Amino acid sequence: MSDKPLLISAGQLVDGRGGAPVADAGVLVDATGMISWAGPMAQVPHLPDGCQRVALPGTLLPGFIDTHVHFAVPGGGLQVGKLLLQPPPVRVLQIAASMAATVQAGVTTVRDLGFLGPKLAMMASTGATPAPRLLNAIAMLSPTGGHGDFPLPAGVDLTDLFHLLDLTMSVADGPDEVTKHTRQLMRDGAQVIKVAATGGVSTPADGPDDVGFSLAELGAVVETASTRGRNVAAHAIGTQGIANAVEAGVHSVEHGSGLTPELAERMAEQGTFLVPTLTVLNETGDPAVMGQHAYQTARRWRQAAGEAVAMAVKAGVRIATGTDAGLGITHGQNLIELAHLVSAGLSPMDAIVAGTAAAADVCGLGDQIGTLEPGKRADLIVAVGDPLDDVKLLADAGNITLVVQDGRIVKHSMETIQR
Ligand SMILES: [Zn+2]
Repeated sequence: MSDKPLLISAGQLVDGRGGAPVADAGVLVDATGMISWAGPMAQVPHLPDGCQRVALPGTLLPGFIDTHVHFAVPGGGLQVGKLLLQPPPVRVLQIAASMAATVQAGVTTVRDLGFLGPKLAMMASTGATPAPRLLNAIAMLSPTGGHGDFPLPAGVDLTDLFHLLDLTMSVADGPDEVTKHTRQLMRDGAQVIKVAATGGVSTPADGPDDVGFSLAELGAVVETASTRGRNVAAHAIGTQGIANAVEAGVHSVEHGSGLTPELAERMAEQGTFLVPTLTVLNETGDPAVMGQHAYQTARRWRQAAGEAVAMAVKAGVRIATGTDAGLGITHGQNLIELAHLVSAGLSPMDAIVAGTAAAADVCGLGDQIGTLEPGKRADLIVAVGDPLDDVKLLADAGNITLVVQDGRIVKHSMETIQR
């Protein structure tokens, strides 16, 4: 909540709904942090007493939303051994830095889809560090031997150690057990439920074509999550796992590389979102760090992922931005996903909508954030230049000159330079 009303103006405004950009435009934020007006500055209403004014060159946009991050992992993949060697205070500060870097990059809301325990997530909700608005899944529900089951070759059971580090995993089998685990996650504060519908690129025991949870197990998760109004996000790469997830009625398919035209039609009909996470497949980085196996698997699925986006666009599936930050890129580079979406065939405007209005709907927050219009929470940013002309400029946090979250200025780099 901001204390004073705030008028922010810039060279142009992009509303996040796909509307034509408005030149020389502004947004008026009231003292409660809500947008009360947005439009051309020529039509700005009478300003309330004590109104602060910020005028910047560049483009005013809604705060972006990354619907798929992992704050508990710093970047470069889940290296369990490395995480276990970190003293907890170092780990806490590293996660705080990742949260701060994300909001400074213009990402004002994220979903964390696994590993971030409820205690660590409180860093974001209590304001202990600058952080995006956070919807936390706490853990990814996985079957035994599935994408979220990490037995060590040495045979050590890490459950207690993970618990100590607030590094959360959730392995369950059968409809009854997954129901119980879903209820436990919701009890512990999960605002979204993440499930492994297939194996993964980086897991030792299974691969992307392997089915994770059965249809019956996925159905039990979706039904249980719906009792508390939680959406289910399904990690699903191979075709059969995507089919199971869609049949079970999940809210979003994460990755979705093995999509078929038929499945895309079904997703469009049901309103299932696709979060293609092109970043993690394209920015896979160093095979020496992530391991040869994961590197080669990622390469193989990269092309399929691009084709899946084209199928989704053709069928009318709504696409949203998600990066898998932590497991690929380091935190704060999230908006590179927009450039990858444009490479896969989206227009820059559609990529921006994928990162704003559509991503807000993936989070179930479409009535509160994601667009610049009266009645929404004032999450907004200013970027230098014109991202409709060069969407890649958004990927550089240095090009984001202003970040406003819930009506409060959390980054204003121009002002810093003037001081
Ligand atoms: Zn992920």
